[in-house]
Parts: sequence; structure tokens; C-alpha cells
Amino acid sequence: MQKPVLKRGNPLLAQMCQPVTDIEKVRPIILDMKDTLTHIAGLYEFKRGHGIAASQIGHLVRINIVQFNGITQVLINPTMTDFSSDQIPIREGCLSFFDVRGNVSRYKAVTVTALDENGCPITIKATDNFAMLLQHELDHLDGILYVDRLPNGEKDLYPVESMPII
Ligand SMILES: [Zn+2]
Repeated sequence: MQKPVLKRGNPLLAQMCQPVTDIEKVRPIILDMKDTLTHIAGLYEFKRGHGIAASQIGHLVRINIVQFNGITQVLINPTMTDFSSDQIPIREGCLSFFDVRGNVSRYKAVTVTALDENGCPITIKATDNFAMLLQHELDHLDGILYVDRLPNGEKDLYPVESMPII
């Protein structure tokens, strides 16, 4: 079922999420996350991929769903196991505060391991926009929003239309 996405300022978004220990128990959450993401994808055009964390619909468990290049991937208990030495600034937005953007410094390449929705281990190697998406979504599981990573925080956010592209 589609759920409302929690907005920035909701204390749940700042909480550390707990590891999933029983996938059967979180299946309803995954379904709700998929429905919510599908609904949002029908409203907006996402050129750089998008995703959602369970905490954004109020569940403090370590689950993300990312959609990139037409592929949807459920990530349960994801961990970043490797990252490049170089970082690049990437323009980011977030479903929890959708009307602004910010340029965040992210690793150019990352490796993420997780369980898929069947409990099978997966490894994803990603670069550039996909790497950014994964870093953004993993941050949610630790209660971190991208605005927390901007040097001047709130002051570095731009309305969608006025964002300077670095
Ligand atoms: Zn977000």
C-alpha cells in the first residue's frame, strides 16, 4: 500500500535503523515501499535514479529500494564494503524534502553488499550517479540526510529551479 513519505524534521528520519533479522516479517514493509516508490515515479521524472528507505515511511529497519536505469533493487542490511579514493560533487534531492537540491561530495565509485528480497547475498559495484544514489540511501539508514553533509547545511540548499550545476 502506498504510504506518505515522512518529511524532513520528522524525528524518525534522524534515527539509526536496526538490521533485519527475519525477512518474512519485513515483507509487508517492502511491499509498501515498492508501492510508494511506484506512485512517486508516476508523478515525477527522475533522470538520475531514485530510491527510498524504510525509515521514510516510518519503519526503522535497514531496507532500501533503489531504481536506476529501469532496474529496481531491494537492499536488505546493505553495507558499503569499498569506495574510491576520489570524491565528486553530485546534485542530490530527497523525497523527504523534494523542493530543494544540494551539491553533495560523494565517493565516485562504491561497492555495496546486501541481501535481496529473497535473502540472497548480492554485490553491487556502482559509479557516479548510481554510486551517489546508493550512498544517499544508505545514509538514511543511519539517520543522515544529505543536507547534513553540506558544508553550510541548510544554507547550501537551493530551490529546484535555481540550482547552479557544478
Ligand atoms: Zn532521501
